[in-house]
Amino acid sequence: MTTPLAVSLETVNLLYAVSAVLLVFGIKQLSSPRTARQGNFVAAAGMAIAVGITLFHPDVEKYGLMAVGIAVGTVIGVVSARAVKMTAIPQMVALFNGVGGGAVALIAAAEYHRLAPDLGALPVDVIAGILFGALVGSISFAGSLVAFGKLQELLPGRPLTFPGQIVVNGLLLVLAIACGVGAGVTENGIWIVLLIVLALVLGAAAVLPIGGADMPVVISLLNAFTGLAAASSGFVLGNNALIIGGTLVGASGTLLTILMGRAMNRSLANVLFGAFGAAPAAGPAAAPGASGDGAMVRQTTAEDTAVMLAYASQVMVVPGYGLAVAQAQHVTRELADLLEARGVRVRYAIHPVAGRMPGHMNVLLAEANVPYPALLDMDDANPELNRTDVALVVGANDVTNPAARSNPESPLYGMPILDVDHAKNVVVLKRSMNPGFAGIDNELYTNPKTAMLFGDAKDSLERLVAAVKAV
Ligand code: NDP
Repeated sequence: MTTPLAVSLETVNLLYAVSAVLLVFGIKQLSSPRTARQGNFVAAAGMAIAVGITLFHPDVEKYGLMAVGIAVGTVIGVVSARAVKMTAIPQMVALFNGVGGGAVALIAAAEYHRLAPDLGALPVDVIAGILFGALVGSISFAGSLVAFGKLQELLPGRPLTFPGQIVVNGLLLVLAIACGVGAGVTENGIWIVLLIVLALVLGAAAVLPIGGADMPVVISLLNAFTGLAAASSGFVLGNNALIIGGTLVGASGTLLTILMGRAMNRSLANVLFGAFGAAPAAGPAAAPGASGDGAMVRQTTAEDTAVMLAYASQVMVVPGYGLAVAQAQHVTRELADLLEARGVRVRYAIHPVAGRMPGHMNVLLAEANVPYPALLDMDDANPELNRTDVALVVGANDVTNPAARSNPESPLYGMPILDVDHAKNVVVLKRSMNPGFAGIDNELYTNPKTAMLFGDAKDSLERLVAAVKAV
């Protein structure tokens, strides 16, 4: 039965094509901070068209339940997106991605239930699409929920490992695939239920052994999974928008995963099975003053640093995870404005994995209205650091560690870093001598050019602002 609202399938497909073009343009615009905001609106318009025209699809019959789903989803989406703090965006992305995976798994189960009586007559690609959606959607749902739990500190952030974990997970995958075969050859619904249960356990078990700080990479990978699962349900439902949208998510999630791994010089296997980023051993914070191996570090004061900054001709701010923790982006901008008013050239060196999510530093600095041209990515920043009078490192650690260039024994060896030690002077703002995410000492801190300004980054920057005003 067709509703009076229905339009022709050609019209639906034409508008799906328009929405696909908008999605592609939107994603393209996201690649530059200048156009990213507009890209978001363009992609959202594409999505609105795809969802809107689906309501007029000739196959749509019942509007009541859909209206309830759309209303509930819209309220939850809008309220949570408005309430979430900037530092909690990674777990929000995890949650939304998980919901997408879960939706695909539910669609797969519903389609199986609907089509099972004609199982023998169904083309193999339709059955395969349903089973793939159920498997991958469920893995993505459960894995994303565990990632959310770790980032929200509802679960321990450290890697939870036990001997033989990889074998157990392998076995779960084999059993889930066997259930999929069962569901493909008999119309007994128990097989697809078992497949979904095993895939849920596998998703959770695969993410539990991964450290909390690696979650952004995992979420990006699970995002790619959800996209592929959505594309497969597009084939099952004969829906072009789902096929294109799902493939876009699958491709961009895969590329982002690869790029993040590359920027950390870590293979995907190392992220998934390396139990990297274990929480530092409990104990008192390493005292300011001496590095882990006992070498002395030079401490400085806000007043001395302010004089150095005020009389510099070029200053490079090097932000890292500590900037996000301290929420020091606004006062960083204030300091930069003061220095620029004195004729100092201030720019920002952005490492691709500084912080804890892709683009973390760009988002924070954009929030403080730092002008885009002042942000230099790593390849542009490194030559400039040779000409820099003062590198002001604000809560960055691993991404500045020269051991990545010089020490083959270091876990960071080979990771591209910001060559902060090439600047004439280095001032590091952090609270203690504690290591960063990789859990290792930073030899930058014992370099004779480096001075440490200990304290919360926001407090230190506020003291610097006051001191520069007094110079
Ligand atoms: P790090 O984690 O290496 O270092 C952050 C530093 O900030 C710490 O040494 C800490 O020192 C300091 N800090 C924390 N809170 C404050 C505060 N309130 N005030 C001042 N300082 C503070 O961060 P980086 O940004 O240099 O490097 C990112 C790391 O995360 C890399 O190893 C990267 O591979 C990894 N990673 C990044 C991902 C991404 O997508 N961006 C994804 C997964 C991993 P102290 O405690 O002494 O203050």
